[in-house]
Amino acid sequence: MALEEFDDMKYSAETKVVAVGRPPREPDGDLNMPISLSSTFHPGGPNGYGRYGNETWSALESAIESLEHGKTLIFSSGMAAINAVFSILPIGSVVTASRNGYTGVMVVLENLVKSGHLDVRFVDVSNTDEVLAALPGTSLLWLESPTNPALEVADLPRLIAAAKAQGCVVAVDNTFATPLLQQPLLMGADISVHSVTKYLAGHSDVLLGSVSTSDSALHKRIEDARKFGGSIAGPFEAWLALRGFRTLALRMERSQASALELATRLLTHPAVERVRYPGLPSDPHHERAKSFMSGFGAILSIDVKGGARAADRACESSQLVTYATSLGGVESLWERRHRWSIESPTIPVNLVRISVGIENVEDLWRDIDQALRTSQLPE
Ligand SMILES: *Cc1c(COP(=O)(O)O)cnc(C)c1O
Repeated sequence: MALEEFDDMKYSAETKVVAVGRPPREPDGDLNMPISLSSTFHPGGPNGYGRYGNETWSALESAIESLEHGKTLIFSSGMAAINAVFSILPIGSVVTASRNGYTGVMVVLENLVKSGHLDVRFVDVSNTDEVLAALPGTSLLWLESPTNPALEVADLPRLIAAAKAQGCVVAVDNTFATPLLQQPLLMGADISVHSVTKYLAGHSDVLLGSVSTSDSALHKRIEDARKFGGSIAGPFEAWLALRGFRTLALRMERSQASALELATRLLTHPAVERVRYPGLPSDPHHERAKSFMSGFGAILSIDVKGGARAADRACESSQLVTYATSLGGVESLWERRHRWSIESPTIPVNLVRISVGIENVEDLWRDIDQALRTSQLPE
């Protein structure tokens, strides 16, 4: 069944993640898209050469497309996808972006400034007035929301409308929310990007990225950036990601419910100074998130009492939750973000980001609670 037929039938997202991106229904046809391992193809089709297109990529792209509502391209990683977007900006363009968003994006932007390619205005994306003030002259507004790792929420509907009114291109990094919880293109953004590595693939076994666009000229330029820049996905990785994608809605439902439960309990934990999770009614971003997101996601951050050392000790003391970077997989992970020297100075040194997986929530709580208590013991 073609993607358009699914859209016409108005299936819910929970159904689309299972049903879209499959081969045609024909006698003995494959149920799953096979892994197409050819660097070249017979002429006459849409792909032509392995750097231009691949049917396994296309299956994953149509699946993401059905949720994001815009033509989608997959890349070899989230950063490859993001770099492809930056690569189409003319030299000297002004980008307005988050001051403490994903570290990799900040490093790339800072380097593009140093090399004289771009001018970047770093803002607090949750401070609407500050973002609006930076808009005049901006070519690309880069909105990550919720932000990684501080869980700040940008007023997407308002900022997108204001930027579009000034002729500015708007891109949203939708990795934390997933298209189940917010659809930036339906809110008027031009571009929505993902680190597919995280929730969409969901099993911490693959790196991939995606760019979805609502504008066919933008799509064509980003497709050229992939074709000729060469940052293409491996067919096996695309297949693995599509396999993981089938359970996205189920995984998110479980992880999100557990994240709220853990965040609520952590609020009164003696080893915790602050909990950051937009799903908490007391969170400064709660009302805004509630106004346009259909859920609050499954990442939360805590500031651990006792500074960096206590935060490290907590992470090292868990037995079930894994001390590792990354997020969005079935297994719970946590880490003190400042163990990476590139983390933004605006992120507290004792902030620990927790990616809540699909394990039993009581098991998670027992482990987190004992690790946090251990972090407070005299050394
Ligand atoms: C991980 C991440 C990226 C980068 O994606 P990779 O797949 O690791 O290259 C970009 N944005 C956000 C919000 C992320 O969490």
